[in-house]
Amino acid sequence: MKKNIQLEEAQNILLDRVMPVGKCLVSLLEANGRILSQDIKATISIPSFDKSALDGYALIASDTRQAESSAPVQLRVIEETRAGFLSKEKVMPGTAIKVMTGAPIPDGANVIIKYEDVIRNGDSISVFRTLKAQDNIVKAGEDVEEGEVVAFKGTLITPPLVALLAGLGINHVPVYKKVKIAIMSTGDELVCPSEELQAGKIYNSSLYGLMARCHELGGQPLDLGIVPDEIRSASARIVKGLEEADIVVSTGGVSVGDYDVIKDAMVEAGAEIIFWQVAMKPGSPVAAAVKNKKLIIGLSGNPAAAMVTFDLIIIPLLKKLMGINKPLLNKIQGVFADNFTKASSQRRFLRAKLERKDGIDYLKLTGDQGNGVLMSMVDCNILVDIPAGSGPVIYGQRVSGYIVGNVTDAYHEQPALMLIGKSHPI
Ligand code: AMP
Ligand code: MG
Repeated sequence: MKKNIQLEEAQNILLDRVMPVGKCLVSLLEANGRILSQDIKATISIPSFDKSALDGYALIASDTRQAESSAPVQLRVIEETRAGFLSKEKVMPGTAIKVMTGAPIPDGANVIIKYEDVIRNGDSISVFRTLKAQDNIVKAGEDVEEGEVVAFKGTLITPPLVALLAGLGINHVPVYKKVKIAIMSTGDELVCPSEELQAGKIYNSSLYGLMARCHELGGQPLDLGIVPDEIRSASARIVKGLEEADIVVSTGGVSVGDYDVIKDAMVEAGAEIIFWQVAMKPGSPVAAAVKNKKLIIGLSGNPAAAMVTFDLIIIPLLKKLMGINKPLLNKIQGVFADNFTKASSQRRFLRAKLERKDGIDYLKLTGDQGNGVLMSMVDCNILVDIPAGSGPVIYGQRVSGYIVGNVTDAYHEQPALMLIGKSHPI
């Protein structure tokens, strides 16, 4: 068993131990937000035939060679066709076929001129300029070529990809199965939010935060409930979790106190402990164990510590299990927009929020940084990474951090250019 390892080592040790869970087929609508489990090769082109880009007339470009505004060329209109129908006639020299947007290009024609550019008189049109072949024709394969890979295995399926798959006539999509994560909380003091709070007891908050996070990510959380601080009960619950889920996560009881039973419970459940403690604050008492290739990870019970370690250690793992190609969290650099007066003998992660002003990324603390303080987790989308051995961190200092939440709101500011020329900028 390794002890007190670096966060990145912990991430890598765990990532090396897991492979994406199984595959399944889901309907097109269910596929949104899932991860592709196979490369998707186009079996048709989009579009699959040359078609008209607009409402107009299909004709032969060389027929317009002599056309001028003062001497238009006259062409006889021999048919009319629209999207969804093939024309019966072939365009021969001196003729044209009226077409609507999306109509297949009639045989013989090689250019489309738009309605507004011709004058129609009876069954003929006047064309006033020379046309270039292929103008206003959407070529077959303009969007997708038959045989092309449109999306790779491990890609997150988004609404535009759903549209693309539909456009290829794909009705069922190969995706990875949902990852099942069993989550349990240990602690004799814990009660469910639905129960009455007795003296000395607290509501179990960590379990719900972690289940919600897991759900948000597209996983399938299994509620293993509250377990007393007792080895047998905890180990039985771990065994149940291993039977039903792909990975088991517990909170609480993983430190050095008399009732911190999780490590013993892991061993009692037949698992082998891989490491204990990660050099970081909050959340250093993390224990990871393995049984039959399934991981069991014990996190600190302190609500904020549990969420921070879930984000930094469990999320990359879930992403790999889900089949996502790049499971590690993204990092960001920015300007520290606060004063954090404490020194950090240990590596520390500060809960912060990205705020962009005048093109500069500022990382601003979201509140008190205590282990049990959840309030500052609510607005947190960045965990600022303060190296071990750092002094106080001051306003204006350059720092980096892991992105753990949605940062799009940070970019809400109006770009300066948009305001130019506006009398009433909003
Ligand atoms: P532990 O990790 O078991 O030593 O717990 C550390 C602190 O977090 C203690 O004050 C616990 O009461 C509290 N705690 C443990 N588990 C939870 C939980 N699931 N929800 C809220 N607080 C918890
Ligand atoms: Mg406890």
